[in-house]
Amino acid sequence: MSKKYTIAIVGRPNVGKSTLFNRIVGTRKAIVNDISGVTRDRLYEKAEWNGSEFSVIDTGGISASNDVFIKEIKEQAELAIKEADAIIFVVDGHNGITKDDQLVAKVLYRSKQPIYLAVNHLDNIEQHDLIYDFYSLGLGDPYPISAVHGNGVADLLDDIVDAFKNGTNGGVSDQDQEDQIKIAIIGRPNVGKSSIFNSLIKRNRSIVSDIQGTTRDTVDSQFEDNQGNVFTISDTAGIRKSGKVIESTEKYAVLRAQMAIESADVILVVIDASTGIQDQDKHIAGLATEEGRAVVIVVNKWDAIEKDNYSMKQFTEQIREEFKFLDYAPIMFVSAKTNQRLDQIPEMAIKVDNNHKMRIQSSILNQTILDAIALHPTPTKNGKRLRVYYATEVAVAPPTFAIFVNDPELMHFSYERYLENQIRKNFDFAGTPIRLRIRARK
Ligand code: GDP
Repeated sequence: MSKKYTIAIVGRPNVGKSTLFNRIVGTRKAIVNDISGVTRDRLYEKAEWNGSEFSVIDTGGISASNDVFIKEIKEQAELAIKEADAIIFVVDGHNGITKDDQLVAKVLYRSKQPIYLAVNHLDNIEQHDLIYDFYSLGLGDPYPISAVHGNGVADLLDDIVDAFKNGTNGGVSDQDQEDQIKIAIIGRPNVGKSSIFNSLIKRNRSIVSDIQGTTRDTVDSQFEDNQGNVFTISDTAGIRKSGKVIESTEKYAVLRAQMAIESADVILVVIDASTGIQDQDKHIAGLATEEGRAVVIVVNKWDAIEKDNYSMKQFTEQIREEFKFLDYAPIMFVSAKTNQRLDQIPEMAIKVDNNHKMRIQSSILNQTILDAIALHPTPTKNGKRLRVYYATEVAVAPPTFAIFVNDPELMHFSYERYLENQIRKNFDFAGTPIRLRIRARK
């Protein structure tokens, strides 16, 4: 399936949205990024059913407490309408239709996307009669499910995925955009994302704007730099003024960032020089590393602070200290207000994108590894020495190296780190994470 689809799960609190979310995304463990200190609170996750891939949003996870206000319930349903290609509306089969269910339904009536009404907590066939009440919501045939036990979830997903395949659900093709570098700008509210976005579009030749993005509420714009390179830059809803309200809660900001990262090659992580680095900056930046994208750290509002000859150096040191997990990301100091250095962004994006996709010949790579080992012998454990036989790059974006050894258990974390550093020393991987996979030679 060449299209990207998103399913949103909506419903009033406590009907089992998160249980269903976990059931659909399966046991795919949230990658715990212990380096960045990001606590994973997944609201947005990739899943697969019958060979089709899609993303799932748990709108219920967005509120921090169970005390969700009517306004929030509405906002969540609205978000689903904007972002998703199909919506699963979850109700509790044992409670009948409540006022809050009606409230959600009211918002969903405006949706052009198909709604799948899932009547939850129906753990056995005898309880299936309870679905009849829900016909009165006017949302078609209800699906009896048990999110906890999994009953009925397969039928529901079969229907949703079939509709994706037949093109009866939404979804947007990303053909034609393959050769362009896709940039996403992420950062906490008010760091200047939209200002940078607007300047990039204005300063460069804007080719087309308003291409429908991969999700409903993102609008992609394209621009061409003076070298004729074409970029797609994704205007996540948070960037547009209409998105401001939604971005006001941290979880929405994180959700936006996740979605933007998903469809981009290069991520600009924007930090506000005038406020300094904050926890939320780290949290958002952590998401970009997790997905293995190319990253540039953009320090904005450089005009707004008092500077001397050391300011850049000091700020750089601070960033390196606070963003240890992004030590490979180049740092740029810009001002969206005065346009200082904004013209260097496209160039930088190309550079890190190339590094992200760079292939290293095995012979050259192996020479690098051999040299590294000669310089710094492999570790031993219980009198047994690690032997490295061969290394090869098995994937790009991000560059991933398989290193074949006698026994992976003998590889020490610090030695792995050393090898990574030696690879970085020999090849320009600025802006991209690289991954080592230590494998036993068969
Ligand atoms: P967003 O929420 O990250 O999209 O941030 P905005 O682009 O809306 O900017 C937030 C505020 O910072 C606005 O008042 C901007 O005018 C201001 N701003 C953005 N970039 C700069 C900059 O480079 N210098 C200064 N001094 N202010 C800026």
